[in-house]
Amino acid sequence: MYPAQFDYVAPSTLDEAIKLLAESGGEAKILAGGHSLLPAMKLRLAQPGTLIDLRKIPGLNEIKVDASGVTVGAMVTHAQVARSPEIQRALPLLAHACSVVGDLQVRNRGTLCGSLAHSDPAGDPPAVFVACEGSIIARGPNGERTIAANDFFVDILTTSLGEDEIITAVKFPSLPAGAGSAYRKFDHPASHYALTGVAAIVTMSGGNIATVKIGVTGVGPKAYRATAVEQALVGKGPDAVAEASAKAADGIDCNDDIHASAEYRAHLASVFTRRALEEAISRASA
Ligand SMILES: Cc1cc2nc3c(=O)[nH]c(=O)nc-3n(C[C@H](O)[C@H](O)[C@H](O)COP(=O)(O)OP(=O)(O)OC[C@H]3O[C@@H](n4cnc5c(N)ncnc54)[C@H](O)[C@@H]3O)c2cc1C
Repeated sequence: MYPAQFDYVAPSTLDEAIKLLAESGGEAKILAGGHSLLPAMKLRLAQPGTLIDLRKIPGLNEIKVDASGVTVGAMVTHAQVARSPEIQRALPLLAHACSVVGDLQVRNRGTLCGSLAHSDPAGDPPAVFVACEGSIIARGPNGERTIAANDFFVDILTTSLGEDEIITAVKFPSLPAGAGSAYRKFDHPASHYALTGVAAIVTMSGGNIATVKIGVTGVGPKAYRATAVEQALVGKGPDAVAEASAKAADGIDCNDDIHASAEYRAHLASVFTRRALEEAISRASA
């Protein structure tokens, strides 16, 4: 199917893009890699009057890794994140999650920030973003603001980003010293979208779990922290993981569609939480 008619602009500065977005009164949409937006337009699920392409704006395709963490610019693709040696070292679960997004074509065009902006309940990066307690850097007519992961995803395909705001980058804090991390997913065989994806970050002390953060995608309407599992594990040994993982979908209104029933998704959440935790624990310093 063809999309409805639209105008296309490719401004060369961020200020110009923000002005165009603000002036459109909600009619325009930002275009990054186009690998979620264009399919939605072809299905007439989205009918923006204007697409504002970010590709000519300098400075949006940078990756910065320093002692405070990892910053990924708005136009950095999944493939660039997956291949970055600095990110592989500093935040291996992010590099891995981006390496298992879709196929090569999707990874070469789709962007990490576009994925977060889209808030697809089956997207991989949102699980890592919530587990890491990352933050979105957004610019709008009133300047720049930072949105914490906890406050970012609102519902299916809905975030707290303002209609007139543009994500310029996403930030992930450094992993704690000695942390082990992992991202494990059960993907749809055709699209590779996550039926369930779990990101886990664990630190150990004296053979027990000292801290643990778990992000889950694919299961509910938006990515979430599996807090019931986290609470059940602090201070416990690795033998507590299997029982605690059964709580991975506690309190979540699980998605139920042609791809998987709610019951099956809750089961997958438990299994993949256990696997991600076991892998993260095996990588953590004792
Ligand atoms: C066949 C196929 C398979 C896929 N499989 C997977 C998968 O396995 N896992 C997975 O996670 N994803 C998958 N995807 C989605 C892919 O990762 C997308 O690239 C990603 O979700 C969106 O990024 P994008 O750069 O393409 O964004 P776009 O499609 O350009 O934009 C998506 C939305 O975000 C908004 N947006 C984008 N960038 C910004 C910004 N900087 N500021 C404000 N708003 C912005 C747009 O306005 C739009 O509403 C798949 C896509 C396809 C087509």
